[in-house]
Amino acid sequence: MRETQEPLEVLHRVFGHTGFRGMQEEVVRHAVAGGSGLVLMPTGGGKSLCFQVPALCRPGLGVVVSPLIALMEDQVAALRQQDIPAAALHSDLDPDEARTVRRALNDGSLKLLYVSPERLVNEETLARLDEMRLALFAIDEAHCVSQWGHHFRPEYRGLTVLAERFPAVPRLALTATADPRTVQDIQRQLRLEDSPLFRASFDRPNIFIAAQPREQERTQIRQFIRRAGDGTGAGLIYCGSRRKAEQTAEWLRADGHDSLVFHAGLEPGEKREAHRRFARGDAVVMAATIAFGMGIDRPDVRWVAHTDLPRSPESWYQEIGRGGRDGLPAQALLLYGAGDIALARHRIGESSAGDDQKRVERQRLDAMVAIAEAATCRRQLLLRCFGEDAPEPCGQCDICQNPPRLFDGTVAAQKLLSAVLRTGRRFGLGHLIDVLQGKTTAKVAQFGHDQLPTFGVGRDLTETAWKGIARQLVAQGALDVAVENHGELVPTDAARPILKGEQPVMFREELVAPASRPMPRAR
Ligand code: ADP
Ligand code: ZN
Repeated sequence: MRETQEPLEVLHRVFGHTGFRGMQEEVVRHAVAGGSGLVLMPTGGGKSLCFQVPALCRPGLGVVVSPLIALMEDQVAALRQQDIPAAALHSDLDPDEARTVRRALNDGSLKLLYVSPERLVNEETLARLDEMRLALFAIDEAHCVSQWGHHFRPEYRGLTVLAERFPAVPRLALTATADPRTVQDIQRQLRLEDSPLFRASFDRPNIFIAAQPREQERTQIRQFIRRAGDGTGAGLIYCGSRRKAEQTAEWLRADGHDSLVFHAGLEPGEKREAHRRFARGDAVVMAATIAFGMGIDRPDVRWVAHTDLPRSPESWYQEIGRGGRDGLPAQALLLYGAGDIALARHRIGESSAGDDQKRVERQRLDAMVAIAEAATCRRQLLLRCFGEDAPEPCGQCDICQNPPRLFDGTVAAQKLLSAVLRTGRRFGLGHLIDVLQGKTTAKVAQFGHDQLPTFGVGRDLTETAWKGIARQLVAQGALDVAVENHGELVPTDAARPILKGEQPVMFREELVAPASRPMPRAR
């Protein structure tokens, strides 16, 4: 039997690529030499080759753990085309197929085995592997081991056994989730604390990023698609709920798009069909919840839109990272509203998670809000969430191309907050704006709010401007929206220094005032 092979030779012969990209070579050489490690690379960064090449270079069987059956099947099919004996073992196989794979495993004719975590930690499989020569273990989507993430899979916890039972076999864990807590968790669970961490840059400079408050959702999305779509590639639009995904697919279809829908409520057959059509169609548009994600490897997704605020920068980045995997320009647009922020905060509060987890989720949400409401380069803020310091503004986001003017909105903020207080913290934004703008509606008259000192003090700003100010105060944590009731606005402790004039509030001018607002004190 041949001993180790040359990585570059395998890369050419089996995969037909001319050279390694970025960190790949370093990881491959380390693994070929028998080292373990954790690899952090963005989606589309080329993680698969990092374990496939060393598995083929080293003698013995390479075992790849993956939670995604579709992805396993794709990779196995591709390897077999190159005459590499590969197979997948998972719960979707019928008994005959499973027997064939086990037989191949037993007679030692396999080079690569893709296996679901539950099949791997099954005693029968482990006992078989005990007797075999193993090239390496690759643990793909390794963030599934962490409870901090949104993709926790309890079966992944069982993988701790690999380090104990096969201490001499290299373990390569791979993930696109780089947030420090998840990374630590993976290292601990998979016993990789003393192994190197390979961290590729998460920057995807070919993706232009932009965010806008949601005003006229459909109009905003239509304009975005018109600019970003190229008539051939695919587009992806993430929605906050199944219902919204269905509705979005519907109006897109009415607009003449070849639109599909995907969410966790579909039947398995419908899901497969949606995946298949998305993979093939020209100018196809997918409206989906976050259930649509892992395992999409269409390289020419030209745009990714979000109709609702994602729950963390990690999720957002992973989702927009599905755009432009071919390296050509792609566009991302995020729409969000104050209600999203309040609802997300509310959901975290109500969830069954422990206090620590809730704190982490709140921090992530705050970071996401900060990116959405950013007054400086969005990419710099985003990369900072992954522990990367980008010294220069990127030039490839809406803020860089069109830097916002800031104005001191302290007085406006005080007016809104005092309207909230004087009306007894019992009203939603619509009524508060009526009071501020001095409109004597029936409701205003009923509650005698036309007698308040704040009545009419906000005539200088438009309704849109007041909405923007409310949203920014919610984003900054000075106001809460009581989502569990009727959406009334409630000031928090952070409102006090603003009311007292101890803390100035800077607003992005165009968020607050589309054209019609009188000139603010610009900075
Ligand atoms: P990830 O798993 O990190 O999301 P993949 O392993 O699926 O990324 O790779 C993304 C795409 O990049 C694939 O189409 C793959 O063929 C391509 N690719 C990866 N490495 C190279 C390379 N060294 N040369 C050319 N193409 C590559
Ligand atoms: Zn930028």
